Amino acid sequence: MRGFLRIWKKFDLEEVEKHLIVVGELSSECYACHHLGLDARDAVCPQCGAAFKYMGFRRHLTMNYLQKLNDELPHMTFIDFEDFKKVRGKRDARRLLDM
Ligand SMILES: [Zn+2]
Repeated sequence: MRGFLRIWKKFDLEEVEKHLIVVGELSSECYACHHLGLDARDAVCPQCGAAFKYMGFRRHLTMNYLQKLNDELPHMTFIDFEDFKKVRGKRDARRLLDM
C-alpha cells in the first residue's frame, strides 16, 4: 500500500517562487506574477510563462484530491504552503535587517 507522508527537505526558495502554483478553493494563482484564475492542471502560467513544478494549497486538502492531482501531474512536487510562507517570511525579515 502506498500513502502520502509529509517530509522536510531543503529547497532553493527563489527556485520554488519561480515555479509555484497555489491552488485555492475556486481558482489557482501563479505565485511568480500573482496571475489568478488558473486551473490546478495548467502546466504553464499564461501571463509570465512560469512552468509549474511546485504546488501549494490555500484550500482544505483531502487525500482523494491529492491522489487525483498526483495521478494527473506525476512530475509535481507538493509543498506545504504554510511552511513556505514561514521560511520566506524569515528570509525577508533577514533581508530587511541587512539593508
Ligand atoms: Zn505567472
